[in-house]
Amino acid sequence: MPLLMIPGPIEVSPAVVDAASGPPPGHLAPSLIESFGASLELMRRVWLAPSDAQPFIVAGSGTLAMEMAATNLLDPGESVLVVSSGYFSDRMAEMLRRRGAKVTVLRAEPGDAPSLDAVEEALSSGGYRALFATHVDTSTGVRVDARALAQMARAHDVLSVFDGVCATAAERFEMEAWGADVYLTASQKAIGLPPGLALLVASRRALEARAKLSSPPPLSIDFEQWTPIMRAYEERRPSYFATPATTLVRALEVSLREILEDGMEARFALHARVAKAMRAAWSALELRELPVRPELAAHTLSALYLPEGVGPELVASVAERGVVVAGGLHPALRTRYFRVGHMGHVLTQPDALRTTVRAIAEALSQHGHVCDAVAAVAALDRALGE
Ligand SMILES: *Cc1c(COP(=O)(O)O)cnc(C)c1O
Repeated sequence: MPLLMIPGPIEVSPAVVDAASGPPPGHLAPSLIESFGASLELMRRVWLAPSDAQPFIVAGSGTLAMEMAATNLLDPGESVLVVSSGYFSDRMAEMLRRRGAKVTVLRAEPGDAPSLDAVEEALSSGGYRALFATHVDTSTGVRVDARALAQMARAHDVLSVFDGVCATAAERFEMEAWGADVYLTASQKAIGLPPGLALLVASRRALEARAKLSSPPPLSIDFEQWTPIMRAYEERRPSYFATPATTLVRALEVSLREILEDGMEARFALHARVAKAMRAAWSALELRELPVRPELAAHTLSALYLPEGVGPELVASVAERGVVVAGGLHPALRTRYFRVGHMGHVLTQPDALRTTVRAIAEALSQHGHVCDAVAAVAALDRALGE
């Protein structure tokens, strides 16, 4: 199997592969009820969420988790602010429009994020029900200042929602301390599972917002349908609304325990340290990043401009060397850059990181960007050792 170094799905740990294999448990099996209940409890710890926040585990993609957030918090006609940092923020804005919301989008150039001043000014003009932002935009590798955005929203009594699909369990996010209302993700990114689970934690305020809606969301993604199910599982009681992805829930418990093994501080630090090491390698290869300032560069992936004279076919040449990286995604720049994911299990496998750097360096040389693979791997190793 090639090494999967895209921003999701990612390489998963051997224990997760084991847990995700074998005959599926029934949704009422005692072992599944136990895994489900434990996973809900563990999610609060990974999300650093308060005890009255409600975790949801629903079969689906990250996009489904986004739709849950877009439809459970506000009625048609209400105003929302989308702090857009790229492709996935724009998807969120479209979902909100379809919900009938009045959507204001704050935009930035690709590789940048709207300024906090612009957000503050927009919030001060008043009337917003909620602020939506993408914690790490997977199309550009830009991470927004989620803490500042959540705190600003709180100060204006506006709900805050963060799409953490390329961030949760890797980038620092303190749901309770920052007062965020929804933090959502999917199983196949830094959570370290196969694709198939939409994961979301909602604050008490978010649940109250749902309770007050006059226009309910679609039944299959309604907080109010799912809350009693989640509570039942957490109390280790059987329950049914729609069949959960039982095999993946079994694997989720395993993965969340791995994530929490050394604590969340260690987990955030590992991602920061490896991101820095990967960037040392990119710099040795003279690759330029999309994020326009270092503090915007995510710890979970790198978005790198293709050097002069090298086209998007680089991705296929890297794949020939056994490593899968991703092409561009942002519509404005799609053919001008490529992306490398660095999250989860693979971060504990320095050989996989070296293989990735070497494959990219060799493919670049093949396409005429002459560079030194040995020096790039040495730069990686040096930074990993620091
Ligand atoms: C991957 C991703 C999504 C979409 O997740 P799917 O599981 O593909 O639906 C949404 N937002 C962000 C930030 C992502 O990285």
